[in-house]
Amino acid sequence: MLTTKTIILKMDCPDPDLLDRTVQTYTEGMNYVSAVVYKLGKPRGSAALQKIVYPALREQIGLKSQMSCNVVRQVTGTYRTLQEQIKAKKTEWQQIAYAPTSMTFSFGRDFSLDGDEMGLTTLEGRRKYRFFRYPHMEQYLDGSWKLGASKLVKHQDGTYYFHLCCEREVETREVTKASTFMGVDVGQNFLAVASTTDKKCRFFCGGKAKDLRNIYSTMRKRLQSKGTRSAKRMLKHLSGRERRLMTDLNHRISKETVEFAVQNKVDVIGLEDLTGIRDRTATSKKQRYAHHSWAFFELQSFIEYKARERGISTVYVDPAYTSQTCPRCNHISKNNRHRKSFVCECCGYSIHADLIGARNIEARARTHRYTLEVQGCSQPPRRELSTR
Ligand SMILES: [Zn+2]
Repeated sequence: MLTTKTIILKMDCPDPDLLDRTVQTYTEGMNYVSAVVYKLGKPRGSAALQKIVYPALREQIGLKSQMSCNVVRQVTGTYRTLQEQIKAKKTEWQQIAYAPTSMTFSFGRDFSLDGDEMGLTTLEGRRKYRFFRYPHMEQYLDGSWKLGASKLVKHQDGTYYFHLCCEREVETREVTKASTFMGVDVGQNFLAVASTTDKKCRFFCGGKAKDLRNIYSTMRKRLQSKGTRSAKRMLKHLSGRERRLMTDLNHRISKETVEFAVQNKVDVIGLEDLTGIRDRTATSKKQRYAHHSWAFFELQSFIEYKARERGISTVYVDPAYTSQTCPRCNHISKNNRHRKSFVCECCGYSIHADLIGARNIEARARTHRYTLEVQGCSQPPRRELSTR
Protein backbone atom coordinates (compact mmCIF):
# COMPACT_ATOMS: atom_id res chain seq x y z
CA MET A 1 0.00 0.00 0.00
CA LEU A 2 1.31 3.45 -0.88
CA THR A 3 1.77 5.61 2.19
CA THR A 4 2.19 9.32 1.69
CA LYS A 5 3.32 11.91 4.13
CA THR A 6 3.61 15.67 3.76
CA ILE A 7 6.24 17.38 5.82
CA ILE A 8 6.32 21.13 6.09
CA LEU A 9 9.70 22.78 5.72
CA LYS A 10 10.22 26.22 7.12
CA MET A 11 12.34 28.12 4.62
CA ASP A 12 14.90 30.76 5.11
CA CYS A 13 13.87 33.04 2.33
CA PRO A 14 15.99 36.10 1.60
CA ASP A 15 14.18 37.13 -1.59
CA PRO A 16 10.42 36.84 -1.00
CA ASP A 17 9.81 39.25 -3.88
CA LEU A 18 11.23 36.82 -6.41
CA LEU A 19 9.11 33.98 -5.02
CA ASP A 20 6.06 36.25 -5.00
CA ARG A 21 6.60 37.07 -8.67
CA THR A 22 7.21 33.42 -9.54
CA VAL A 23 4.04 32.26 -7.77
CA GLN A 24 2.08 35.15 -9.33
CA THR A 25 3.19 34.22 -12.83
CA TYR A 26 2.59 30.54 -12.22
CA THR A 27 -0.94 31.33 -11.05
CA GLU A 28 -1.47 33.52 -14.09
CA GLY A 29 -0.55 30.47 -16.16
CA MET A 30 -3.00 28.31 -14.21
CA ASN A 31 -5.83 30.78 -14.74
CA TYR A 32 -5.02 31.08 -18.43
CA VAL A 33 -5.12 27.29 -18.90
CA SER A 34 -8.27 27.13 -16.78
CA ALA A 35 -9.99 29.62 -19.10
CA VAL A 36 -8.94 27.54 -22.13
CA VAL A 37 -10.35 24.33 -20.61
CA TYR A 38 -13.53 26.12 -19.65
CA LYS A 39 -14.04 27.32 -23.20
CA LEU A 40 -13.36 23.83 -24.57
CA GLY A 41 -16.35 22.75 -22.50
CA LYS A 42 -14.82 19.58 -21.12
CA PRO A 43 -11.52 18.42 -19.62
CA ARG A 44 -8.76 17.27 -21.94
CA GLY A 45 -5.89 14.92 -21.23
CA SER A 46 -2.63 16.58 -20.16
CA ALA A 47 -0.84 15.80 -23.41
CA ALA A 48 -3.57 17.19 -25.66
CA LEU A 49 -3.95 20.29 -23.53
CA GLN A 50 -0.21 20.80 -23.43
CA LYS A 51 -0.12 21.13 -27.23
CA ILE A 52 -2.77 23.86 -27.14
CA VAL A 53 -1.44 26.03 -24.32
CA TYR A 54 2.32 25.46 -24.21
CA PRO A 55 3.41 28.24 -26.59
CA ALA A 56 1.36 30.88 -24.78
CA LEU A 57 2.58 29.72 -21.36
CA ARG A 58 6.19 29.99 -22.46
CA GLU A 59 6.17 33.06 -24.69
CA GLN A 60 3.36 35.30 -23.47
CA ILE A 61 3.23 34.48 -19.79
CA GLY A 62 6.93 33.72 -19.48
CA LEU A 63 6.94 30.46 -17.54
CA LYS A 64 9.86 28.06 -17.53
CA SER A 65 9.41 24.80 -19.41
CA GLN A 66 8.89 22.57 -16.35
CA MET A 67 6.54 25.12 -14.78
CA SER A 68 4.38 24.99 -17.90
CA CYS A 69 4.14 21.20 -17.60
CA ASN A 70 3.21 21.44 -13.92
CA VAL A 71 0.55 24.05 -14.67
CA VAL A 72 -1.07 21.83 -17.29
CA ARG A 73 -0.95 18.76 -15.06
CA GLN A 74 -2.39 20.62 -12.07
CA VAL A 75 -5.23 22.23 -14.02
CA THR A 76 -6.06 18.90 -15.67
CA GLY A 77 -6.24 17.38 -12.20
CA THR A 78 -8.66 19.94 -10.81
CA TYR A 79 -10.95 19.71 -13.83
CA ARG A 80 -10.93 15.93 -13.56
CA THR A 81 -12.08 16.28 -9.96
CA LEU A 82 -14.70 18.77 -11.08
CA GLN A 83 -15.97 16.30 -13.66
CA GLU A 84 -16.28 13.58 -11.02
CA GLN A 85 -18.28 15.96 -8.86
CA ILE A 86 -20.51 16.79 -11.81
CA LYS A 87 -21.11 13.07 -12.39
CA ALA A 88 -22.04 12.76 -8.72
CA LYS A 89 -24.43 15.69 -9.29
CA LYS A 90 -22.72 17.80 -6.67
CA THR A 91 -21.86 20.74 -8.88
CA GLU A 92 -21.96 22.00 -12.47
CA TRP A 93 -19.50 22.97 -15.19
CA GLN A 94 -17.68 26.14 -14.23
CA GLN A 95 -14.44 28.02 -14.64
CA ILE A 96 -12.02 27.35 -11.81
CA ALA A 97 -10.02 30.30 -10.50
CA TYR A 98 -6.72 29.92 -8.69
CA ALA A 99 -5.33 32.25 -6.04
CA PRO A 100 -1.63 33.12 -6.02
CA THR A 101 -0.82 31.33 -2.78
CA SER A 102 0.97 28.20 -3.93
CA MET A 103 2.76 26.49 -6.79
CA THR A 104 3.76 22.92 -7.54
CA PHE A 105 7.29 21.65 -8.08
CA SER A 106 8.44 18.28 -9.44
CA PHE A 107 11.28 16.57 -7.66
CA GLY A 108 14.38 16.19 -9.79
CA ARG A 109 12.98 18.54 -12.41
CA ASP A 110 12.48 21.91 -10.82
CA PHE A 111 13.32 21.22 -7.21
CA SER A 112 16.09 19.34 -5.46
CA LEU A 113 17.23 18.75 -1.91
CA ASP A 114 20.78 18.68 -0.65
CA GLY A 115 21.47 18.63 3.08
CA ASP A 116 19.67 21.61 4.52
CA GLU A 117 19.39 23.34 1.17
CA MET A 118 16.80 23.09 -1.53
CA GLY A 119 17.07 24.27 -5.09
CA LEU A 120 13.99 25.80 -6.67
CA THR A 121 13.56 26.95 -10.23
CA THR A 122 12.25 30.51 -10.18
CA LEU A 123 11.58 32.99 -12.97
CA GLU A 124 15.24 33.94 -12.69
CA GLY A 125 16.60 30.43 -12.83
CA ARG A 126 17.66 28.02 -10.10
CA ARG A 127 17.97 29.49 -6.60
CA LYS A 128 19.14 27.88 -3.37
CA TYR A 129 17.14 28.20 -0.17
CA ARG A 130 18.07 26.97 3.27
CA PHE A 131 15.43 25.20 5.31
CA PHE A 132 15.26 24.22 8.94
CA ARG A 133 15.94 20.54 9.35
CA TYR A 134 14.34 19.13 12.48
CA PRO A 135 15.08 15.69 13.96
CA HIS A 136 11.56 14.39 13.26
CA MET A 137 12.12 14.91 9.52
CA GLU A 138 15.23 12.76 9.28
CA GLN A 139 13.33 9.50 8.79
CA TYR A 140 11.72 10.93 5.64
CA LEU A 141 14.89 12.40 4.21
CA ASP A 142 17.22 9.42 4.66
CA GLY A 143 16.50 8.07 1.19
CA SER A 144 13.95 5.46 2.22
CA TRP A 145 11.08 7.65 0.99
CA LYS A 146 10.50 8.81 -2.55
CA LEU A 147 9.97 12.53 -3.00
CA GLY A 148 7.06 13.53 -5.18
CA ALA A 149 5.38 16.63 -6.53
CA SER A 150 5.49 19.15 -3.71
CA LYS A 151 4.18 22.62 -3.09
CA LEU A 152 5.57 25.99 -2.23
CA VAL A 153 2.88 27.60 -0.10
CA LYS A 154 2.50 31.12 1.23
CA HIS A 155 1.10 30.76 4.74
CA GLN A 156 -1.19 33.26 6.36
CA ASP A 157 1.71 34.83 8.20
CA GLY A 158 2.99 35.94 4.78
CA THR A 159 6.05 33.69 4.69
CA TYR A 160 6.81 30.75 2.43
CA TYR A 161 6.88 27.12 3.46
CA PHE A 162 7.68 24.10 1.38
CA HIS A 163 5.17 21.25 1.66
CA LEU A 164 7.36 18.30 0.81
CA CYS A 165 5.47 15.23 -0.31
CA CYS A 166 7.11 11.89 0.52
CA GLU A 167 5.79 8.48 -0.43
CA ARG A 168 6.72 4.93 0.19
CA GLU A 169 5.34 1.55 -0.72
CA VAL A 170 4.67 -0.29 2.52
CA GLU A 171 3.64 -3.92 2.44
CA THR A 172 1.30 -4.58 5.34
CA ARG A 173 1.19 -8.20 6.39
CA GLU A 174 -1.97 -9.98 5.41
CA VAL A 175 -4.35 -10.68 8.22
CA THR A 176 -4.86 -14.28 7.13
CA LYS A 177 -1.13 -14.94 7.33
CA ALA A 178 -0.72 -13.27 10.70
CA SER A 179 0.36 -15.21 13.74
CA THR A 180 0.95 -12.55 16.37
CA PHE A 181 -1.85 -10.20 17.30
CA MET A 182 -2.08 -7.34 19.73
CA GLY A 183 -5.24 -5.95 21.26
CA VAL A 184 -5.25 -2.27 22.18
CA ASP A 185 -7.85 -1.01 24.61
CA VAL A 186 -8.11 2.77 24.60
CA GLY A 187 -9.21 5.14 27.28
CA GLN A 188 -10.08 3.52 30.55
CA ASN A 189 -7.85 4.07 33.56
CA PHE A 190 -4.95 4.10 31.18
CA LEU A 191 -4.94 5.88 27.86
CA ALA A 192 -4.03 2.64 26.15
CA VAL A 193 -3.44 -0.94 27.25
CA ALA A 194 -1.82 -3.42 24.89
CA SER A 195 -1.71 -7.19 25.11
CA THR A 196 -0.19 -9.56 22.56
CA THR A 197 -0.86 -13.18 21.60
CA ASP A 198 2.28 -14.09 23.55
CA LYS A 199 0.71 -12.44 26.61
CA LYS A 200 3.13 -9.54 26.63
CA CYS A 201 1.41 -6.46 27.91
CA ARG A 202 2.05 -2.81 28.47
CA PHE A 203 0.14 0.09 30.01
CA PHE A 204 0.45 3.49 28.40
CA CYS A 205 -0.58 6.06 30.92
CA GLY A 206 0.61 9.21 29.25
CA GLY A 207 2.30 10.53 32.37
CA LYS A 208 0.70 13.72 33.49
CA ALA A 209 -2.14 13.49 30.99
CA LYS A 210 -4.63 12.01 33.38
CA ASP A 211 -4.06 14.73 35.95
CA LEU A 212 -4.24 17.20 33.14
CA ARG A 213 -7.62 15.94 32.08
CA ASN A 214 -8.85 16.05 35.65
CA ILE A 215 -7.64 19.58 36.15
CA TYR A 216 -9.36 20.66 32.96
CA SER A 217 -12.62 19.00 33.79
CA THR A 218 -12.69 20.60 37.25
CA MET A 219 -11.89 23.96 35.77
CA ARG A 220 -14.54 23.49 33.13
CA LYS A 221 -17.21 22.63 35.66
CA ARG A 222 -16.37 25.74 37.63
CA LEU A 223 -16.53 27.92 34.54
CA GLN A 224 -19.75 26.33 33.34
CA SER A 225 -21.45 26.98 36.64
CA LYS A 226 -20.50 30.64 36.34
CA GLY A 227 -22.12 30.91 32.89
CA THR A 228 -20.98 34.49 32.24
CA ARG A 229 -19.77 35.60 28.86
CA SER A 230 -16.13 35.84 29.87
CA ALA A 231 -16.36 32.39 31.41
CA LYS A 232 -17.69 31.06 28.12
CA ARG A 233 -14.84 32.64 26.22
CA MET A 234 -12.39 31.15 28.65
CA LEU A 235 -14.04 27.78 28.15
CA LYS A 236 -13.65 27.95 24.39
CA HIS A 237 -10.00 28.87 24.73
CA LEU A 238 -9.55 26.03 27.17
CA SER A 239 -11.03 23.44 24.88
CA GLY A 240 -8.69 24.49 22.05
CA ARG A 241 -5.73 24.22 24.37
CA GLU A 242 -6.89 20.93 25.80
CA ARG A 243 -7.40 19.63 22.29
CA ARG A 244 -3.87 20.43 21.26
CA LEU A 245 -2.45 18.88 24.41
CA MET A 246 -4.49 15.72 23.87
CA THR A 247 -3.38 15.54 20.23
CA ASP A 248 0.24 15.82 21.29
CA LEU A 249 -0.32 13.13 23.83
CA ASN A 250 -2.10 10.88 21.34
CA HIS A 251 0.88 11.20 19.01
CA ARG A 252 3.18 10.09 21.81
CA ILE A 253 1.02 7.22 23.03
CA SER A 254 0.38 5.89 19.52
CA LYS A 255 4.08 6.01 18.75
CA GLU A 256 4.94 4.05 21.89
CA THR A 257 2.15 1.57 21.25
CA VAL A 258 3.28 0.86 17.69
CA GLU A 259 6.90 0.69 18.85
CA PHE A 260 5.84 -1.95 21.38
CA ALA A 261 4.08 -3.87 18.62
CA VAL A 262 7.20 -3.77 16.44
CA GLN A 263 9.41 -5.00 19.31
CA ASN A 264 7.07 -7.94 19.84
CA LYS A 265 6.82 -8.80 16.13
CA VAL A 266 3.10 -8.15 16.01
CA ASP A 267 1.46 -8.67 12.59
CA VAL A 268 -1.99 -7.28 13.29
CA ILE A 269 -3.31 -4.77 15.81
CA GLY A 270 -6.90 -5.13 17.00
CA LEU A 271 -8.87 -2.07 18.08
CA GLU A 272 -12.46 -1.73 19.25
CA ASP A 273 -14.90 -0.45 16.69
CA LEU A 274 -16.52 2.20 18.82
CA THR A 275 -18.53 3.66 15.93
CA GLY A 276 -21.25 1.07 15.75
CA ILE A 277 -22.21 -0.27 19.10
CA ARG A 278 -24.29 -3.25 18.23
CA ASP A 279 -25.88 -4.16 21.48
CA ARG A 280 -27.42 -1.03 22.94
CA THR A 281 -28.04 -2.63 26.30
CA ALA A 282 -24.37 -3.47 26.53
CA THR A 283 -23.32 0.14 26.22
CA SER A 284 -20.84 0.55 28.98
CA LYS A 285 -19.85 3.81 30.51
CA LYS A 286 -16.70 3.78 28.46
CA GLN A 287 -18.55 3.29 25.20
CA ARG A 288 -20.95 6.08 25.99
CA TYR A 289 -18.04 8.36 26.73
CA ALA A 290 -16.03 7.20 23.77
CA HIS A 291 -18.98 7.72 21.50
CA HIS A 292 -18.69 11.42 22.13
CA SER A 293 -15.00 11.63 22.47
CA TRP A 294 -12.87 12.59 19.52
CA ALA A 295 -9.76 11.87 21.58
CA PHE A 296 -10.20 8.09 21.48
CA PHE A 297 -10.89 8.08 17.76
CA GLU A 298 -7.88 10.23 17.20
CA LEU A 299 -5.71 7.89 19.22
CA GLN A 300 -7.03 4.88 17.31
CA SER A 301 -6.48 6.54 13.95
CA PHE A 302 -2.93 7.55 14.91
CA ILE A 303 -2.21 3.96 15.93
CA GLU A 304 -3.68 2.69 12.66
CA TYR A 305 -1.64 5.15 10.61
CA LYS A 306 1.66 4.62 12.42
CA ALA A 307 1.16 0.86 12.34
CA ARG A 308 0.65 0.93 8.58
CA GLU A 309 3.94 2.79 8.16
CA ARG A 310 5.60 -0.15 9.90
CA GLY A 311 3.79 -2.79 7.85
CA ILE A 312 1.30 -3.73 10.56
CA SER A 313 -2.40 -4.08 9.65
CA THR A 314 -5.27 -3.03 11.85
CA VAL A 315 -8.63 -4.67 12.38
CA TYR A 316 -11.60 -3.29 14.25
CA VAL A 317 -13.53 -5.69 16.43
CA ASP A 318 -16.92 -5.70 18.12
CA PRO A 319 -16.55 -3.87 21.44
CA ALA A 320 -19.52 -5.46 23.18
CA TYR A 321 -18.71 -6.91 26.61
CA THR A 322 -14.94 -6.73 26.15
CA SER A 323 -14.61 -5.82 29.80
CA GLN A 324 -16.95 -8.53 31.09
CA THR A 325 -16.06 -11.56 28.99
CA CYS A 326 -13.85 -14.32 30.31
CA PRO A 327 -11.05 -14.89 27.78
CA ARG A 328 -10.80 -18.54 28.78
CA CYS A 329 -14.40 -19.78 28.86
CA ASN A 330 -16.23 -16.87 27.19
CA HIS A 331 -18.63 -16.51 30.11
CA ILE A 332 -20.06 -12.98 30.19
CA SER A 333 -21.09 -11.41 33.45
CA LYS A 334 -20.88 -8.14 35.33
CA ASN A 335 -19.99 -10.21 38.37
CA ASN A 336 -16.73 -11.16 36.72
CA ARG A 337 -15.29 -7.87 37.86
CA HIS A 338 -14.08 -7.19 41.34
CA ARG A 339 -12.62 -3.72 41.44
CA LYS A 340 -8.95 -4.14 40.54
CA SER A 341 -9.22 -7.70 39.35
CA PHE A 342 -11.21 -9.79 36.97
CA VAL A 343 -12.25 -13.18 38.31
CA CYS A 344 -14.47 -15.39 36.18
CA GLU A 345 -17.36 -16.64 38.26
CA CYS A 346 -17.58 -19.72 36.07
CA CYS A 347 -14.05 -21.01 35.64
CA GLY A 348 -12.12 -18.95 38.16
CA TYR A 349 -9.75 -17.40 35.60
CA SER A 350 -8.28 -14.23 37.06
CA ILE A 351 -6.39 -11.30 35.64
CA HIS A 352 -5.70 -7.60 36.36
CA ALA A 353 -8.97 -5.77 35.60
CA ASP A 354 -7.32 -3.17 33.39
CA LEU A 355 -5.91 -5.87 31.15
CA ILE A 356 -9.11 -7.70 30.39
CA GLY A 357 -10.21 -5.36 27.58
CA ALA A 358 -6.94 -5.61 25.67
CA ARG A 359 -6.82 -9.38 26.16
CA ASN A 360 -10.34 -9.82 24.74
CA ILE A 361 -9.67 -7.45 21.83
CA GLU A 362 -6.58 -9.49 20.98
CA ALA A 363 -8.66 -12.70 21.06
CA ARG A 364 -11.35 -11.15 18.85
CA ALA A 365 -8.78 -9.94 16.32
CA ARG A 366 -7.48 -13.52 16.17
CA THR A 367 -11.01 -14.87 15.71
CA HIS A 368 -11.49 -12.32 12.95
CA ARG A 369 -8.55 -13.86 11.15
CA TYR A 370 -10.17 -17.30 11.18
CA THR A 371 -13.43 -15.83 9.97
CA LEU A 372 -11.63 -14.25 7.04
CA GLU A 373 -9.88 -17.49 6.30
CA VAL A 374 -13.16 -19.39 6.26
CA GLN A 375 -14.72 -16.78 3.99
CA GLY A 376 -11.66 -16.86 1.77
CA CYS A 377 -10.95 -13.16 1.70
CA SER A 378 -7.57 -11.77 2.41
CA GLN A 379 -8.32 -8.17 3.24
CA PRO A 380 -10.07 -7.02 6.39
CA PRO A 381 -13.17 -4.89 5.80
CA ARG A 382 -12.22 -1.30 6.30
CA ARG A 383 -14.02 0.75 8.84
CA GLU A 384 -16.37 3.32 7.38
CA LEU A 385 -14.90 6.59 8.57
CA SER A 386 -17.86 8.68 7.55
CA THR A 387 -20.04 7.13 10.22
CA ARG A 388 -18.10 8.93 12.89
ZN1 LIG B 1 -14.15 -18.26 32.60
